[in-house]
Amino acid sequence: MHTESGSTDVVVLGGGLAGLRAASVAADAGARVTLLEKQRSLGGSAALSAGMFWTAPTMESYETRVPAGDRALAERIIDDYERDLESIRASGVFVADAATDDVMGFGRGFSFDVKAYLGHLEARLLEAGGEIRTGVRVRTADRSSTHRFRLLLDAEAGEAELHADAIVLATGGFQASPADRAAWMPDVGEEILLRSNPGSAGDGLRLATSLGTATAGDLGTFYGHLISHPVTGFTPERFMLFSQYYSDHGILVAADGRRFADESRGDELLNQDLAQLDGMRAFLIFDQQTRSTHGVSEPFASFGLIDRLELAVEHGARHAVADTLDGLVAALGRLGVEEAQLRRTLAGDVGISGLATRLSRSAPPTSAQLALLRTAPFYALEVQPAITFTLGGIAIDPRSRVIDVAGSPVVGLFAAGADIGGLSSYGYVGGLAPAHILGSIAGREAAAAC
Ligand SMILES: Cc1cc2nc3c(=O)[nH]c(=O)nc-3n(C[C@H](O)[C@H](O)[C@H](O)COP(=O)(O)OP(=O)(O)OC[C@H]3O[C@@H](n4cnc5c(N)ncnc54)[C@H](O)[C@@H]3O)c2cc1C
Repeated sequence: MHTESGSTDVVVLGGGLAGLRAASVAADAGARVTLLEKQRSLGGSAALSAGMFWTAPTMESYETRVPAGDRALAERIIDDYERDLESIRASGVFVADAATDDVMGFGRGFSFDVKAYLGHLEARLLEAGGEIRTGVRVRTADRSSTHRFRLLLDAEAGEAELHADAIVLATGGFQASPADRAAWMPDVGEEILLRSNPGSAGDGLRLATSLGTATAGDLGTFYGHLISHPVTGFTPERFMLFSQYYSDHGILVAADGRRFADESRGDELLNQDLAQLDGMRAFLIFDQQTRSTHGVSEPFASFGLIDRLELAVEHGARHAVADTLDGLVAALGRLGVEEAQLRRTLAGDVGISGLATRLSRSAPPTSAQLALLRTAPFYALEVQPAITFTLGGIAIDPRSRVIDVAGSPVVGLFAAGADIGGLSSYGYVGGLAPAHILGSIAGREAAAAC
């Protein structure tokens, strides 16, 4: 087969937020840039997102949420946050005037029109002379005789060889690869639901490790939300509608009738806890007060009020409703939950469940949470975990330089966005803002390395 050959200064892998930002910044800095996107269209998970540009506002809040996280990386994200937010405002796309506080219980952020902004970055990259190729997948990368790297590409038109002095890895994590999930997160059930773009299947991590680089963070941890179960029509535009963001206002019980985590810590943590249970199913129990407030409110300003229970039920979720907690126990008994134990659980038994003993990271349940069940009627909705992106990944330093297994930066190799590991770890401090900030840094550094 004919193999075309070409060269450029910077190759960016991935056309989501981190990749488009890195490519546009590198092109603005004067580098010749080629952005490769594996799917037919750009945007990645960023284009499916709620557009909340948020992170931990202070190092103190960061350390409380991610005690084992990379402090140097977090400092850089927190320091650069305002500057990157201003550059989004300067693009002219919608950015909210007022901050949203308490994002995921501790964060601070601003809603913005993420789709319009991705379009802005694409246009800016092309204006600066950058090239964008979609439907192209990098098969391997190694050392080049003429430049630092040689990439072998599979494209619809055939194979191609691309030589470059810098690579930015921004392929969005490894959540879409069942084989990588089985290898890196053995505690998570294989059948976990994917709440992500389908292209982020570990290519960045594989390419980096093939060049002798290190991983960082806990590769078994991930970001996602609880989704009703069973669920029909779980298409990307409905990812957020089926997410049960308000689970911290109820209790979660497994089939043995026991709770297994402190629900007040937030849905993104409960989601990871549930993924470790055999069968990965639980019932979320809540009352009318929660249903009519947190159950319908919009966690991010993007899609208005919605009755999440009603929508879940319309799309096949197993559920129960009763005027008393006793009645709810009986109804859940008919759905296979261990009735006698559930009755004890609702009476305040927070004894560690056999399932819970396997959960190393989660906090144990507290009886205080039961006080949230007081206004009839009472509801139970079956839920399952879902994976949006992986939190462990490629090791980088605060200049987005990829670190090798000996602890030194690999000259010319950078990573940004959900491909990197160590910033979030079980505790989650945002996806879009870290992707943008590290994309900006990687773009500047990659241009300077050429
Ligand atoms: C429903 C939903 C809601 C969300 N809401 C928010 C929110 O409000 N706030 C927030 O902070 N975060 C949110 N997130 C997370 C956020 O979208 C991600 O953290 C962010 O998009 C990561 O950016 P990225 O560029 O690293 O990855 P992505 O945006 O996913 O882009 C990665 C791209 O790389 C491509 N790719 C993969 N492999 C290759 C390859 N070999 N070669 C070329 N290209 C490749 C993929 O196809 C994809 O297009 C949400 C995510 C989802 C799914």
